[in-house]
Amino acid sequence: MHQKKNIRLRACAFKEDKMKIFNNDKHIEKIICNCCGREIKVENDILHEEIMSVDINWGYFSKHDGENHKFDLCGDCYEKLIGKFKIPIERTDNIELI
Ligand SMILES: [Zn+2]
Repeated sequence: MHQKKNIRLRACAFKEDKMKIFNNDKHIEKIICNCCGREIKVENDILHEEIMSVDINWGYFSKHDGENHKFDLCGDCYEKLIGKFKIPIERTDNIELI
């Protein structure tokens, strides 16, 4: 087997299950927005901006019965997405920011 690149995609083993690009030291190098393809910089496993991570298991009566879908959106794409909603999202303030 040969490796095409030094980086590879694999499921994240951290507390949140996101698709991330790891370097050879198994540290997260970057996350790529599935919508616009923009790279979100990560340093020392810390994201430099917020992203929206979706991990959904489609069930019965769906078009994707039995499939798991995962994707990440950057903050800009998230704003564009929710801007198209007919009904605004629910907003609450977090008591504690992490
Ligand atoms: Zn994006």
